Amino acid sequence: MSRITYVNGDYLPEAEAKVSIFDRGFLMADGVYEVTTVVGGKLIDFAGHMARLRRSLGELRMDAPTSEDDLLAIHRELVRRNALEEGLIYLQVTRGAADRDFAFPPAGTKPSLVLFTQAGPVLERESVRRGIKVATVPDLRWARRDIKTVQLLAPSLAKMEAKAKGADDAWMVGEDGFVTEGSSNNAYIVAGGKVVTRHLSNAILHGITRASVVRLAAETGMNVEERPFTVAEAKAADEAFITSASAFVTPVVSIDGVALGDGSPGPIAKRMREVYVAESLARAI
Ligand code: PLP
Repeated sequence: MSRITYVNGDYLPEAEAKVSIFDRGFLMADGVYEVTTVVGGKLIDFAGHMARLRRSLGELRMDAPTSEDDLLAIHRELVRRNALEEGLIYLQVTRGAADRDFAFPPAGTKPSLVLFTQAGPVLERESVRRGIKVATVPDLRWARRDIKTVQLLAPSLAKMEAKAKGADDAWMVGEDGFVTEGSSNNAYIVAGGKVVTRHLSNAILHGITRASVVRLAAETGMNVEERPFTVAEAKAADEAFITSASAFVTPVVSIDGVALGDGSPGPIAKRMREVYVAESLARAI
């Protein structure tokens, strides 16, 4: 079944959904995006995604394409038109179509707004049951990883490098030897009963799932340390996990071929997933 997508004001079958070759998202990766998960036809943490979108747009001095109320209505309409029960909604805003120039286009150039759905399992995933293997790779991204831009070539290459090494995903590592994050998720280790994840800065994306998980971990009595950790510390950890809008909390069972604990998903990762899923489903809109 062909999806119904949204392009600059119109709901269109995917085969008719088109943007200009002059769009700055296409020519310069001059765009930002959000991914919101849908479970039971409802949006998970929509307010968090809108807050981060606002911030990304602000950091790049890009106009908002429309109001957040409109964006909510478009998300809901896409869920309805595609009968989406479980999956995700991808939203992208770019600085619009203009003559190619490193300078921003003239004021008044309309931003482009594109959304589409992708159906697929979120709650029940093989990766959650068995845990994922990660491989460490150099972090080759730019210095503003806190902005959710569509420049995803470096993490895409990182993921392919990890797959070539037989892993499921990459953990990217800075020149200082500290893990930044996964190719499309935040990274955590559990050691000595403490949950450790890198502190917020320009070095990582400020995950919406991360914010909830850090809060929930503290609320459930866990000790959370927000600080960088090295690859060596991660390999010696009792367990590890990742978080993202689509992975929720997914256990990591090995790093560069080194098994963590007994090599199966750890109890704290499982518990964090349960707590996160329960809260986010209860709050979904
Ligand atoms: N870090 C990176 C680099 C990401 O691309 C993502 C999500 O796409 C995340 C972290 C997780 O963010 P969120 O929990 O908001 O999905």
